[in-house]
Amino acid sequence: MVPTRSEFIHQGLPGKVAFYVLILASTAYAAWRFWQRVQTWRQGKPVTWKQDWIGNVTRYIVTQRKVRASRPKSGAPMHLLIFYGFVALLIATTLLAVNSYSPFKFHQGTYYLVYEATFDSLGLLLVIGVVWALARRHGFRPSVVSHEWKDLWALYLLLALGITGYVVEAARIANDPKPWDHVSWVGNAIAQLLPTVSDGAYVGIWWFHSILVMVFIVGLPHMKLKHIVVAIPTAAGVPARPMGHLEPISMEEVEKTGQIGVAEAKDFSRWHLMSVDACMECGRCTEVCPANGVGKILNPKRVAQDVLAASQTGANVPTAISEEALWACTTCNACVEACPVLIRHVDLIVDARRNLVAEGKLSGTAAVMLRQTGSTGHAWGAARGTREEWMKGQEVPLAKDKKEFDTLFWVGCAGATDPGAVKTTKAVAELMRQAGVDYACLGNEEQCTGDSARRVGDEFLFQEMAAQNVATFSKYQFKRIVTPCPHCFNTLKNEYGDFGGEYEVVHHSQLIAELIDEGKLKPAQAQEGGVTYHDPCYLGRVNNESDAPRKALGEETRLNDYGDAIQREVLDGNRKNITEPENYGKKTLCCGAGGGRMWMEEEPNQRPANRRAEELIATGAKTVALGCPFCRIMLDASVKQVGGDEINLVDLAEMVRDANK
Ligand code: SF4
Ligand code: SF4
Repeated sequence: MVPTRSEFIHQGLPGKVAFYVLILASTAYAAWRFWQRVQTWRQGKPVTWKQDWIGNVTRYIVTQRKVRASRPKSGAPMHLLIFYGFVALLIATTLLAVNSYSPFKFHQGTYYLVYEATFDSLGLLLVIGVVWALARRHGFRPSVVSHEWKDLWALYLLLALGITGYVVEAARIANDPKPWDHVSWVGNAIAQLLPTVSDGAYVGIWWFHSILVMVFIVGLPHMKLKHIVVAIPTAAGVPARPMGHLEPISMEEVEKTGQIGVAEAKDFSRWHLMSVDACMECGRCTEVCPANGVGKILNPKRVAQDVLAASQTGANVPTAISEEALWACTTCNACVEACPVLIRHVDLIVDARRNLVAEGKLSGTAAVMLRQTGSTGHAWGAARGTREEWMKGQEVPLAKDKKEFDTLFWVGCAGATDPGAVKTTKAVAELMRQAGVDYACLGNEEQCTGDSARRVGDEFLFQEMAAQNVATFSKYQFKRIVTPCPHCFNTLKNEYGDFGGEYEVVHHSQLIAELIDEGKLKPAQAQEGGVTYHDPCYLGRVNNESDAPRKALGEETRLNDYGDAIQREVLDGNRKNITEPENYGKKTLCCGAGGGRMWMEEEPNQRPANRRAEELIATGAKTVALGCPFCRIMLDASVKQVGGDEINLVDLAEMVRDANK
């Protein structure tokens, strides 16, 4: 006897016809519902960016990269089990269908035995994963995990599908045993527990399982589980631009549409509308949002849901999200980093802000910042001609004198005039002098990069600043730009290319790390009371640079994408490691200054910087090393507010400078 099994056992023609009618009807219904969703996405603008479909699907769907990197960590193995178990069952069903409905008949012999043993085992992954998910919801539920009936319903349905699949197999074995049944080891084990199964009972069990499959198909477009389908094209089409690169808008576009930014859902791209439809309301984004964490109304999960609702109802997007929520965002990208289905919340928020700014709905100190940036070229409104004051008493070469040099030292608005940031600027200049770097500053020729203006929503002011700065750069010959400001770093590196300014840009920590490697500088010395380091969002997360600052502080580190240290050793064996705060590397916690929040009013009990200061103080370290002038300004006020008077806040460049005196 050749090992195999037949289909529709004990069922006549009426059973077969009923099954085909019902399965086709449920599939057609689901397809129609998904098609309606596609029509909702299609109201958006066509996608203009290049897409790496194969690479993205491999990265984000096949290997589940985002899921593996997500928190809480207990969620990742659970999702991997469910995902791979589900995929295995899908492959098993597809192979069966090919065997049944094509001329190729291969479901027999050795192939059949391997098929049974493999998929019998892999199906267990789904069952274990779903049991795990249910245990998380009923028992040890992390705060981020919701406990709504719609989540439970979907999970119980999946569990029922998995279990009844095995019961059908067990009933078949009990009803008509075959010598090779042991390869279907799970079903065979269950069969040993069953009494004799009559033909009628088998057919009843088979139909029960089949109806559950149909319920699943019909329910899929309506459940959070729809992300099984929607997340695939979303991942495939994710913008290739880096996280810190916002899509520019052109004057031609504005002239054509008569509008700036997003007022209605149709003003988003089709991809953005599709992506919010993939949201499974897992809450990971909200869990990491610094604004939400201090009790603000902003909730990135709601942002995704509000945009989705607006795409279905035609509501005004800024109103649906709420202006207060939109202004609360620091554009820290923690939500983007956390989202397993790759939603770009910051794009959604900045696009809506662009519309609010164009409508004149921004007032107060942030509006003053925009006016200052436009009139003086300095975000804090420092008068033109004051950017060289920090150079007094030092020999700082100017670009207009040198014309040609290796490194352009981009100081930034804070770095030129803020007393704390000026200390960093001076330290970087001194280190470059000491290490023999051929550099020059623009001095009074430098203007704000426009980063804050852009993220507040004034796209055209940003573009004006970018054009002016690119014109200034073009006057000189240099190989790269170094800056101590991660916001300038991000904008110059990732965004100026859209305006004709392609440059190699490094953060000052990267330059210092390079000079340490070349033996031209020594890393910072150990500090009495220990050191912790605050990763700036626009360096650690948005630009994935966490190792260079740690090297400057004397530690050879490699942090992986998931924020875990995979290598950590001190450069000089006599010192202690950096004590990391709870959130570091890519998972760093925002100080609250980005996205123009530096210039917005803050309730004293709603300062993200206070929360971050508490985390840094909790490390017990007495020195907090920094790598960003914005973080310095925010944390300086907060450390004192939360009782950290004895904490020494200092930029890593100052620490390296002190070690090299
Ligand atoms: S936006 Fe992403 S992270 Fe946030 S709830 Fe939806 S799927 Fe989860
Ligand atoms: S970018 Fe940061 S502040 Fe804005 S919604 Fe996302 S997590 Fe919250």
